[in-house]
Amino acid sequence: MLITLSINATTEQINNLYNNLAEKKLNPQVYQIDGQTVISVEKKDNSLELVALEAMGFVEKVIPITKPYKLVSKEYKNHNTVIKVGDVEIGSGKIQIIAGPCAVESKEQIMETAFAVKEAGATILRGGAFKPRTSPYSFQGLGEEGLIYLAEAGRQTGLPVITEIMDIKDIELVCKYADILQIGSRNMQNYSLLRELAAMDKPVMLKRGLAATLEEWLLAAEYLMAGGNSKIILCERGIRTFETHTRNTLDLSAVPAIKELSHLPIFVDPSHGTGKWKLVKPMAKAAVAAGADGLMLEVHPQPSQAYSDGEQSLTPNNFKILMEEIKRLAAVL
Ligand code: PEP
Ligand code: MN
Repeated sequence: MLITLSINATTEQINNLYNNLAEKKLNPQVYQIDGQTVISVEKKDNSLELVALEAMGFVEKVIPITKPYKLVSKEYKNHNTVIKVGDVEIGSGKIQIIAGPCAVESKEQIMETAFAVKEAGATILRGGAFKPRTSPYSFQGLGEEGLIYLAEAGRQTGLPVITEIMDIKDIELVCKYADILQIGSRNMQNYSLLRELAAMDKPVMLKRGLAATLEEWLLAAEYLMAGGNSKIILCERGIRTFETHTRNTLDLSAVPAIKELSHLPIFVDPSHGTGKWKLVKPMAKAAVAAGADGLMLEVHPQPSQAYSDGEQSLTPNNFKILMEEIKRLAAVL
């Protein structure tokens, strides 16, 4: 159960209520969510007594929550979360497109890609500088050099930039250059990283874990929100199944399911979701039809030369064609 307090609630009123709930052994926890104090309590049989709390002037609402995740649930907040990044509004109904290479490889490569995707209609630029590679012998990313090139490409095109953060020790560095922080699939359940990023004043994109259920994914998002960061974007990127034809199995039913369960925006990444560029276009369109708030797409000027994920990267020209198709599809929808 969540108790939301009026923004005018005084510290004394909050403390008194907290002590009262603690005395009743309801295990109260206090959160600050977008300037509002919210107290969670473990639901006990005396919930009727809790409902009486609503009569207190400084209590705004008492919300019964049936799910294990609370703050990210639709029960807590019934309207969609909208996240503003510069001029880009995520979750407000307009489909936003994150595009760019898997990894920043050179200044020329990210600049060329950035201008191409911007011209075709992308609204956010991606590019990895710290890459979570399956093999330690594969290209690991350019580190800070990559972040500098990415930020410069963002500045020159006017696109906000997103990049992955893998390690707590890199938070300060990545925050210097990135507008949105990406938590990769492999780190979805890295709870110490989630806790640290919860304290940052930056939107976070949380990709679905390789084998995470929707509940585990939403509980990971709950770490961010309970820690004070409500600017969370979910991203479905495929899960591991017995099928080996595709790199992962893109679970598009996650989109409407998440929409039912949570107020957070959800993107779809058909590049990592399929691993095959030819499948990216149809699955991108299917994601839009399923109600996704946006897409994350890998684009490389010369996919065959890419240091990583070339086989799932679109050429700028294929990206342009897809964008035109998506525009038409979005208009119909
Ligand atoms: C990525 O988007 O760069 C990436 C590594 O994706 P994922 O974490 O979904 O594998
Ligand atoms: Mn990639």
